[in-house]
Formats: sequence, C-alpha cells, structure tokens
Amino acid sequence: MFDTIPDMAAKRAELTPRAVAFIEHETERRWSFADVNAAADRLAAGLLEMGLERGDRLVVLSLNRVEFFVALFACQKTGIVMAPLNWRQPVAELTEVVQSVGASALLFDVENAGTARALASALALPGISIGPAEGSETAFSQLLDTESRPVPKAVSATRPWYLLFTSGTTGLPKAVIQTARMGWANAVNIGQAIDLTSQDGSVNFLPLFHTAGINLYTLPVFLFGGASTVLPRFEPDRILDLLRSGAVTQFFGVPAIFQALSLHERVDEVDWKTIRCGCGGAPLPESLIRFFAQRGCLICNGFGMTETGPTAFLMDRAHVEEKIGSVGKAQMLTEVRIDGLAPGDVGQGEMQMRGPAITPGYFANEEATRKAFTEDGWLKSGDVARRDADGYYYIVDRIKDMYISGGENVYPAEVERVLNGHEAILEAAVIGVPDEKWGEVGAAFLIPRPGKTLDIATVASWCRERLAAYKVPKSFAIVEDFPRTAAGKVRKHDLREMI
Ligand code: ATP
Repeated sequence: MFDTIPDMAAKRAELTPRAVAFIEHETERRWSFADVNAAADRLAAGLLEMGLERGDRLVVLSLNRVEFFVALFACQKTGIVMAPLNWRQPVAELTEVVQSVGASALLFDVENAGTARALASALALPGISIGPAEGSETAFSQLLDTESRPVPKAVSATRPWYLLFTSGTTGLPKAVIQTARMGWANAVNIGQAIDLTSQDGSVNFLPLFHTAGINLYTLPVFLFGGASTVLPRFEPDRILDLLRSGAVTQFFGVPAIFQALSLHERVDEVDWKTIRCGCGGAPLPESLIRFFAQRGCLICNGFGMTETGPTAFLMDRAHVEEKIGSVGKAQMLTEVRIDGLAPGDVGQGEMQMRGPAITPGYFANEEATRKAFTEDGWLKSGDVARRDADGYYYIVDRIKDMYISGGENVYPAEVERVLNGHEAILEAAVIGVPDEKWGEVGAAFLIPRPGKTLDIATVASWCRERLAAYKVPKSFAIVEDFPRTAAGKVRKHDLREMI
C-alpha cells in the first residue's frame, strides 16, 4: 500500500491554492498553499544548484518558522534528507550527533546563528542562513530567488524524508527515519481520531526537532488543508492569546505544557470548551484531566513514539472521564499486540506495533534497527501496557524504568500517580536506586505545588495508605524542577546520576 505519495505541497497547491496554510505569528504574514509550494519549488532548485543531491542530509538548527516547513517540502521534492537538530544542545554534543548521520549543509536561523557557525566551522559544512548571511554562507532568500526549474521529483513513499532524533530520555538519541508514507499514515490516524477538517487551525510551537513539532498537528493539518499558526517557541501568554482568538481549534501539548497553562493566571480567559485538546509523550496526571474537564475541555491522552509516527493511540473524548489514565485504542492504521497475551485477553506485557505509520528503522544503524523489531516485523515499544476488558490500553511504564524491590516489580509510574494525587505535590518523579537489603528501593523527587507546604512525613504516610509497602519510596527529596528533555520529559538517567 502507498508505494508512491504525491509531492505534498504541490498537491495541496493544486487542490486549494489560495487557502491559508501558515500564519507567521510575529509578522502576521499569511502563506497560502500556493505560496508554500512555489517557495519550496524554488528552494529545491536552489539546494540542487548548491550541489546537494538526493539522499544527502541537510541538518537544521532553527526555532519554529515557516521557512523550516518550506525546507521540509523542498526536501520531499528532491529526496534530500532533512535532519532537525536540538538547539538546546552545546556544539560538542551537536558535533557528535551530526557526525552520526553525516551532513552536506546546515540551515539555521538568526537565534541559532552563534551555535550554527561554530558547528559549521567544526565540521566544514556550508551554511545556509535564514537571516543575514556572512562570509561564504548562502542566504536562504538568495536560494528562493533561484529560478524555479523542473526538479527531478523523488517523492518516494518509503525512502527517508527527514530524520528525528529520539528525546534521549533513556540514553543517547537515535535518528529515527521518517518517510512520506509515515506522514500520511499518521495524518490519517490523528485526522480520523479528532475529526480533522480544512476548517481546523493549529498552533505550531513544540520544538521541531521532536516528533510533536512537525507531526502533531502541523503536517496532518497541512495535509487536510487547514491553517497552522507558527510561533517560534512556547510562550504561554502568546499561546493563551491564540487560544482565545478562535484561530486554534485543536491543541496538542505534552503534560508539562498543560501544567504550565493550568498554573497561568490567565488560564480562564480561554473558552476551553471550544478547543479539542490532546496530550501525549509522558503520563498525564489525573489532576490535569480534572482541571480542564471542569472548564469543559476533555484532554484526550495519547501514546506515541518518534518511531510510530507518532500517533499510535488516542483516547476518544466520549470515554475520557470513564477511562481515566487510558491512552485509548490503537488508531486506524496501527495494529497493536501485547507480547505474551492472546488477542482480546485482559492483562499486561510489552506493547508492540506495526503498520504504515511505523518507521522502517534508524538511520545508518542496522544494529539498533534489528534490536527494535521482532523477527516477524513488529516494533517493540519498550513500554509495558495493560489492556482492559473493553479493549482500552493503559501505559504502565517503560520496561527500563521498572525496578525490583525485595523480589517484587515496581513500576515508578504507579508510585508517581499516587504522589501526584497529593494536594501539595505539583509533580513527582520516582527512580529505583541500589539498596543493600532490598536490592533496589524507590527514591522520590517532588516539586511542591505553589502556595502549599510540603511535609515529607505526611507524604510518606499518604503513600503507605495507598501502596503496598515495597512500593513506598524510601527517600523523598524536594526539588524546584527536574532535569528535562526539550519536550518537557523527565530525564530519569540524569536523576539517577544526581543520586
Ligand atoms: P529515547 O528513546 O531517546 O530514550 P523517548 O523514549 O522519550 O527517548 P520518544 O519517542 O520521544 O522517545 O518517546 C516515546 C516514549 O514516551 C514511549 O516509549 C513512552 O515511554 C513515552 N510515552 C509516550 N506517550 C505516553 C503516555 N501517554 N503515557 C506514558 N508514557 C508515554
């Protein structure tokens, strides 16, 4: 199925040329689908003229801007492989990341010019500047002046289109191949789950080097003919302005984003009933579901991985309150099975998935690819999930985060759920640490809720009342924040190092 996929920007420009595809929040400039396609055509010609060829990697250091998406579609047209980099990483780390995939040019914006120039000089990479160009750099605008000429179309459905590095929550990031087929399959998965139409509007602000930035919901909204407002980065005030304005009909965040909005003094200026919200990437605390439900907005919890497109699961709105904690069911184009569990049975085990939204593997890393899939071609998620009698799935925890205390398995996510239910705790993180007597025991890190006093003895007895003794953490530390990835996920291996 889907061996070829049309040039996405060209197709949209053919179907709805004058409809708005992108709005630049800072300048209010509106780009129609025809504008995006024309710019992508010229950029494609410019990149080829610079000497880049199909299969070459174009690494990118940029905040969220329309030019990024123009480059993304230019890459689909030419077969050049885009690899967005994490602008929060220092040059030394970026050098390693770029060396792991190899690159022929580096595209960057003004905000990242310093890092980009150091990286370009360390790796002798030609630079393409979205802002003013210096020395031998090429200006993005100059490439857009390239006379559009027929670009050899290389719109394969299954070749690498762009690479996304995993969050690095559990170790060194790996470059996950993203294909045009995955892009369309993910759009179908999310589109049918949230009834996406050309009348929908989204806001793009999550970092573009993580799957959410491109794939939730910007690329799906583009493919369905809706408009995305592009905001350079997460700024709660601007997000709240947009959510009030009616320009955004559906909104996706990770739990940390919803947490930040819920604590914002202007949160109630938004009519939350009018916005369809989805959340994924990490466990969604029940307190947040309740907070927004009281305001008429049922946040649908979803499960995804960079490797799954990402939308593999999304809760249906009708069951959010009945099935609190569930990520729903596997979406239209994704199949799921639980290792060791017969279809339809209730129980838990490693969750495995297959389908056209799943990556073909890691770029230039056959060993990692081999390890990630079963022999019969299912992606191993590395997460334990439970299926209930109605066929709803619950993410129990990452297999890697589970620890064994006195011979019993403990899933930190369960302990965190209990801690997060305490009124004085804003967020909890639990890890297993070595212990002479029990093998391993839990260590809890707690962020207090603003305005509340957090008393450790009370928290310990709160846990004892609700958890088996072996699950109760043996130590509690109060912290201001956790080490996090750019997507707001807790970096547990850094917490372990802190201990
Ligand atoms: P790395 O692979 O580099 O360690 P990562 O696993 O965080 O990073 P991502 O692809 O960003 O990479 O995240 C996927 C993981 O996020 C899933 O395997 C799962 O552990 C977690 N996750 C995603 N959605 C949810 C959810 N709704 N509830 C709980 N965990 C989730």
